Amino acid sequence: MDMLSVAEAQRAILATIKPLESETIELLDALGRVLAAEVRSDIDLPPFDNSSMDGYAVRAADAAGATPDRPVQLPVSIDIPAGHPSPIDLPPGTAARITTGAMLPRGADAIVPVEDTDDNARGSNPLPASIGLRLAVKSGAFVRYAGDDVRHGQQVLNAGTIIRPAEVALLAAVGQAQVQVYRRPRVALLATGDELVEPHQTPGPGQIRNVNASATAALVLQYGGVPLALGIARDRLDAVTAKLESAIEQGADLIVASAGVSVGAYDLVKDVVAAHGSIDLWRVRMRPGKPLAFGNYRGVPFFGLPGNPVSAMLTFEQFVRPVLRVMAGLAQWHKPTIEVIVQEAIESDGRETYARAWVERLDGRWQARLSGGQGSNMLSSLVRANALVIVPDGVRRLEAGSYARAQMLDWPDHIDWV
Ligand code: AMP
Ligand code: MG
Repeated sequence: MDMLSVAEAQRAILATIKPLESETIELLDALGRVLAAEVRSDIDLPPFDNSSMDGYAVRAADAAGATPDRPVQLPVSIDIPAGHPSPIDLPPGTAARITTGAMLPRGADAIVPVEDTDDNARGSNPLPASIGLRLAVKSGAFVRYAGDDVRHGQQVLNAGTIIRPAEVALLAAVGQAQVQVYRRPRVALLATGDELVEPHQTPGPGQIRNVNASATAALVLQYGGVPLALGIARDRLDAVTAKLESAIEQGADLIVASAGVSVGAYDLVKDVVAAHGSIDLWRVRMRPGKPLAFGNYRGVPFFGLPGNPVSAMLTFEQFVRPVLRVMAGLAQWHKPTIEVIVQEAIESDGRETYARAWVERLDGRWQARLSGGQGSNMLSSLVRANALVIVPDGVRRLEAGSYARAQMLDWPDHIDWV
């Protein structure tokens, strides 16, 4: 098989992936999920004409000419707290005391804010018999009209929208106590290798802790999937087969294994998958992470990630994350990139290289420096990184001072934006 570029491999993989079915869940549980159906409003927003200020509702014409020096005095005819509509129309030549969000009485067309009246008690006392208005208001002043924001029946959200707190707010406003979203992908995670022990164990001679199970589970959770831990399979055909069978029994939508997909004598994961499905793609011109495999096991999409933890995690970012996004109903799966200036030269062997880096805003420009050693087993530089600087396919060296794209792993909360 030809070695594909990162973009070619992404295209080939995603061509086989479709969104999962939808389910209907409680509104708050839908945070971070993707809408599976468009949403229309069952009411106008706001639902009725109302006041945006605490104050006095008037006919604007009745307050004409009012100034602080020459206030207009009007009798107060009604009191309208929020949630209590006025039973009567506003009699001409009078004012209604009104609170923020309260329904505008029929006949009124403007609000004089309480700050612009001689009501010093700010509404907390008995209704005054009359009120001095110190401000002339135009018709419509401080009134929020029904349907200003959203109309009854209007489509407010498209299918495919990711639900952030803002969408939760709008969904609540339009009465969607439950929402239809795409199901979360169930991702079976398998670590392979005779050398692995669990994190709570102290490795003996020749052993290392199983990092990938935790690392890939964390990534699955971060990108909205449900991890199904299959544990460790030893480097034997029957052990790997048994684990993959258990993934099928558990109803996995995707299987992600790590290690055993290279060219070593005990790299037999690919063979097991090929025997019960297919390996459609193997090896990508990416660094770290060349020995990536993709195919299916009994019809379930299968990833064989490289064994070194950083390779496993960075290939997860480039290939598994897009699959999780598409399964979860998102059309947009690219991780955001920005243009940075590299502060030091970055070497590559010509494969598209993802260099662990720290990106920050310095002297008004985004600048990147490597966050430490770039060995594919070295986790400390990944921990110190907030971005991956991309050395493009075919480029062997990025000079200090040159421009490059950086894929942001996260954004610093406190940035000097100058
Ligand atoms: P392999 O692909 O099996 O040749 O593994 C490549 C490298 O990754 C070896 O150094 C393995 O020990 C290491 N490795 C494999 N699986 C894991 C794992 N689950 N956690 C940490 N390191 C691993
Ligand atoms: Mg191995």
